[in-house]
Amino acid sequence: MRRPIIAGNWKMFKTIAETKEFCDALIPAILGVDHCEIIVAPPFTALASASEEVDGTRIAIASQDVFWEAQGAFTGEIAVRMLVDAGCTFSIIGHSERRQFFGETDESVAKKTRAAIDGGLHAIVCVGESLAERDGGRATDVVRRQIQEGLGKFSAKDLVSITIAYEPVWAIGTGRTATPETAEEMHAEIRRTISGIHGEAPAAAIRVLYGGSVKPDNIASLMARENIDGALVGGASLDAASFASIIKYTH
Ligand code: PEP
Repeated sequence: MRRPIIAGNWKMFKTIAETKEFCDALIPAILGVDHCEIIVAPPFTALASASEEVDGTRIAIASQDVFWEAQGAFTGEIAVRMLVDAGCTFSIIGHSERRQFFGETDESVAKKTRAAIDGGLHAIVCVGESLAERDGGRATDVVRRQIQEGLGKFSAKDLVSITIAYEPVWAIGTGRTATPETAEEMHAEIRRTISGIHGEAPAAAIRVLYGGSVKPDNIASLMARENIDGALVGGASLDAASFASIIKYTH
């Protein structure tokens, strides 16, 4: 039985004061919800205050990135230990915006994931094809490669600390959601790929989230699919009421 996850990726939005305002609105709106894990990923500057705000609730905090070195002369980077210190228990790794704008590769994703899980964080590793890759019939090959090269060297035991987020780049921030059928097909393929590398049991246990223009009105149809174990939500996670209604998709 895979426990669903609804995670909000705030990207480069919200100050500390806005984070507090969001938490003050979200916490009462989701009281009593216990069918899924709830995660928010504020920008680095708001992580510590977000952790304080959600203390004693069921909301967990994720970073949007992490660096693989433990410390040192790496100006601008943030180590796992610092994220744990700020109250994070999850880290999003390899988001397509990191891959697209900041040179993230399958190799750096693997190094960051290794550091995150060794340091006690749960990694949410993002994969997904571009529009050109989908139109060129290469979507499956691209995602398979991202899984093989990003996660191929991890053990089945490591996978317990890893969740995969399938986020087709053409669906992120575009308002164009993959249909539940298209998403389900890729999620099943991701599970088959994991099974080929690590065996059936870890493949059946790993959670695969969908991301790409998830909204209150499409979450239920996505969550109804067998291999969709939750959502990584961008734009619609910035508003507490809309995020709460995504979280309460079953109600
Ligand atoms: C994301 O940032 O991971 C995302 C899926 O964004 P959006 O929901 O806005 O498409």
